[in-house]
Amino acid sequence: MNATQKPYLSIIVPVYNEEENVRPLYEKIRSVCESIGKSYEVLFVDDGSQDKTFDVLSEIREYSPNLSVIRFQENEGQTSAMAAGFEYAQGEFIISMDGDLQNDPADIPQLLEKLDEDYDLVCGWRKERQDKFFTRRLPSVVANWIISKVTGVDIHDNGCSLKAYRAEVIKQVPLYGEMHRFIPAMSTVVGARIAEIVVKHHPRRFGTSKYGLGRIWRVFLDILAFKLILSVFAQKSNHNRHQSTEQPFRQQIIPKYNVYRIAAYLSLPFFIIGCVFINAAIIVAISSIILGILLIGISFITVWSLSIAQRDVAELSPLSSFFIYRCARRPIRSFGPIGVFVSILGAVLMVGFPHIGPILMNTGILIFCSGLFGETIAYANAKRVVDYRIEIFLESKNNGNRLENVI
Ligand code: UDP
Ligand code: MG
Repeated sequence: MNATQKPYLSIIVPVYNEEENVRPLYEKIRSVCESIGKSYEVLFVDDGSQDKTFDVLSEIREYSPNLSVIRFQENEGQTSAMAAGFEYAQGEFIISMDGDLQNDPADIPQLLEKLDEDYDLVCGWRKERQDKFFTRRLPSVVANWIISKVTGVDIHDNGCSLKAYRAEVIKQVPLYGEMHRFIPAMSTVVGARIAEIVVKHHPRRFGTSKYGLGRIWRVFLDILAFKLILSVFAQKSNHNRHQSTEQPFRQQIIPKYNVYRIAAYLSLPFFIIGCVFINAAIIVAISSIILGILLIGISFITVWSLSIAQRDVAELSPLSSFFIYRCARRPIRSFGPIGVFVSILGAVLMVGFPHIGPILMNTGILIFCSGLFGETIAYANAKRVVDYRIEIFLESKNNGNRLENVI
């Protein structure tokens, strides 16, 4: 590779405790990339592994000038690892894939060919998925069906990490929390053109899967939050990047301040309940009206911190900073389950304890809604919510040479 040129292709691979997989995977990637014959870099992101993953990668790097390794201080999750990969990748095109040998680097040329048909994102579809039926394939089919219905992005396999991207597009897509499962839908926000092709999939041979059934709940919450985010921020009709030639890749996340309206609508049923029960059950009426007022309060705070966050200033108000801090911790994750639990408890108690039940139920709904609102703010601030800390960055020797040449 010419030392002053950016590579044509970057391969990014998040790895967490994959000590036995990284060497054979790197060798496969290398041989496929060599056969393509264009300049490339491979970027492994070690997501705070506790095994020898980082040591093995450092060894490989000794004899591999194309390999860069980022090591996180601690385990931050696959999305953060991918976000770091997208941020530091230098290539014009980017491929992401799992580090456990379940994806096959042999699919890379086909993904790039498809990208060349003027797509911005090409998703792999593990049609013959080699994972357990009840804990993996079945939940995945259901989740993908729901995701496609809710987001309107008709992709069979959102969860497949093997994807190809135009760098200039994916670098604009805000990724935080666990949004790596929604990359196709998130990409529509910047007007990406999306395609999918069938890819190979192998059973895991070494190491263990990092996810269990708990992901069903998380995906469900993510879908809800995502729907709200899209309806608040996305302006779909103007979103095809090909329509705007002057500023084709401008960040197009425009808060429409719909948050206020949505909160106001959500508060409406509480006021209605309050009016209906005002003579019969005063506790129900008062608790409903208070919750309605609180919801409107939340909507004002949301709009306010959104407008502060959108301004390009370094100093944020304490309240706005608090929101952003909360957002980095995935509000829907913490508020969602608590909200659902409290609501159900309230509904059950309502039968025997008409004084406490409705208050609890409404409180639960409010907690849940707070989580959803938090998500929308997090999304508006996604650029600020960089939630990974890099401990070591071993830059590829090619890039190192380039830096020396520049100096
Ligand atoms: N991974 C990661 N951080 C995590 C969990 C997983 O970087 O906290 C990596 C993992 O090493 C693998 C990829 O993400 O390369 C997918 O994980 P896994 O194979 O466990 O998921 P599955 O294939 O079972 O969905
Ligand atoms: Mg896997």
